[in-house]
Amino acid sequence: MSSRVLTAVAWPYANGPRHIGHVSGFGVPSDVFSRFMRMSGHDVLMVSGTDEHGTPISVQAEREGLTTRQLADKYNRVIVEDLQGLGLSYDLFTRTTTLNHYKVVQDLFLGLHKNGYVVPRSAMGAVSPSTGRTLPDRYIEGTCPICGYDGARGDQCDNCGNQLDPVDLLNPRSRINGETPKFVETEHYFLDLPALAGSLGKWLSERTDWRPNVLKFSQNLLDDLRPRAITRDLDWGVPIPLEGWRDEPMKRLYVWFDAVIGYLSASVEWAKRTGDPEAWREWWTNHDARSYYFMGKDNIVFHSVIWPGMLLGHNGRGDHGGAVGPMGDLRLPDEVVSSEFLTMSGSKFSTSRGKVIYVRDFLRDFGPDALRYFIAVAGPENQDTDFTWDEFIRRTNFELANEWGNLVNRAVSMAHKNVGSIPAATDLRDVDHELLAASRGCFDIIGDLLKRSRFKQASGEAMRLVSAANKYISDTEPWKLKNDPPRRDTVLHTALQVVSDANTLLTPFLPHAAQQVHETLGGSGVWAAQPEIRTVGEEGGPDYPVLMGEYAAEQARWTSTPIEVGRRLTKPTPLFAKLDEKLGETGPDWAPLSG
Ligand SMILES: [Zn+2]
Repeated sequence: MSSRVLTAVAWPYANGPRHIGHVSGFGVPSDVFSRFMRMSGHDVLMVSGTDEHGTPISVQAEREGLTTRQLADKYNRVIVEDLQGLGLSYDLFTRTTTLNHYKVVQDLFLGLHKNGYVVPRSAMGAVSPSTGRTLPDRYIEGTCPICGYDGARGDQCDNCGNQLDPVDLLNPRSRINGETPKFVETEHYFLDLPALAGSLGKWLSERTDWRPNVLKFSQNLLDDLRPRAITRDLDWGVPIPLEGWRDEPMKRLYVWFDAVIGYLSASVEWAKRTGDPEAWREWWTNHDARSYYFMGKDNIVFHSVIWPGMLLGHNGRGDHGGAVGPMGDLRLPDEVVSSEFLTMSGSKFSTSRGKVIYVRDFLRDFGPDALRYFIAVAGPENQDTDFTWDEFIRRTNFELANEWGNLVNRAVSMAHKNVGSIPAATDLRDVDHELLAASRGCFDIIGDLLKRSRFKQASGEAMRLVSAANKYISDTEPWKLKNDPPRRDTVLHTALQVVSDANTLLTPFLPHAAQQVHETLGGSGVWAAQPEIRTVGEEGGPDYPVLMGEYAAEQARWTSTPIEVGRRLTKPTPLFAKLDEKLGETGPDWAPLSG
């Protein structure tokens, strides 16, 4: 396998704080994967940022009495802080309102335009009869033609979730003054997906290692691809870089088009920020690199069809050819890793109905690793999964505290008390050899699962080793070996070696606890690096917070490292606090369970 790995993580939308359903879909799985890949010696570039354009941002800004820019600033910061708290190791987590992003989006647009894959078409746009001015889509309201909901907006229906055009609405009216808009012909740009369908079909037919459901779903979409609008009547978004359009205040690139280009623009920004502006090309135009995209299942189409289509068009590899665009011959996705939904009491988390658990509240009360573990072991990896407090508490108490925390505590406490340092092993018996062999074998087994984003099985295998080590200690009873110090030391050495191995195996899932175990075992320095919030700026633009980190300096490696005999041990403190079981019935007071 190659050494360059691009982890492209779906961009959270900056219209509010993120809840645990969001981070279970894109955040935690991509971080577990990236941490594992770095530990295995790959050169990982993990990028994302907040998605800040589009109507919902404008609507929320109106609701909060802020400008769109103020609202985007507010939630960009909240989300950056939440993701940092979770320990998500982005090489760069940025935002879509940077000048760098605008430039990369416009370059990609121009590449597509030049090759003829972006085409103008006339569409019906709404105009206010009293002022003669263009009405933005979001200022038009009416009845949804699909579900009949009366409060649908010109761009989408919040009730059924379908995207709409203002002209589709029944009984359309202006939200400004209630008048009925006039519809006149206006021009918009469309991505000519039918002209990319043949090339996409050929490319998809080569994706033999994709999950069959994702592949089949994507191939089915090719049969009735239609041109897709990439501009809208909007005032909040990236301007269209063409003569006569650039300064048009009511025409902007559609938010989906600019957001999906964020993977590329964030890579370009990362390269600039790390002092080698061309370094991003190693992940984007190098044939040996591999790219992995992480998202929720509602986003598959963008990553398996539309984004690859945009890249093919830019590269001049669509059905009618063309020239390589301004960004170079860009790599298409190698893997599309989608997760299902985390639900609560059987339905999606919903801010509007108050059925929501915010990341911030969760981190404050339970810390990052318990949530990360829950998402890995019980999250919506391959089916919609209900979050229950009962299960969260059970897994935290029985698996993290009783099994893993207890193993660390027992093994280190006994060695600390009896020896003070890591004891030497002599005359290993079969029972010792067996456990050590099982422990070493876990690196291949779990590594193979993590490579394929099978987080549930991978965490399960690691916990199986932890249980085996607990059983080993119970069976060998080192506390009864006072009169046989060599045997006692051998047992403790074996147990500590497996604690060290298990800690390595659990590092991608529990990076904060892993650092603590590393220090408990007498280690120093950074075992698992964490993201930092840095304030950055760009020429001509305001400062903003980003996540970056010094991950290359971390010590964690995906291998069994022999523990060092004689290394001083410190008295362990509990890794995971046990939670009050009553919480399982009531929920915390900030997210109470109602009967
Ligand atoms: Zn509807």
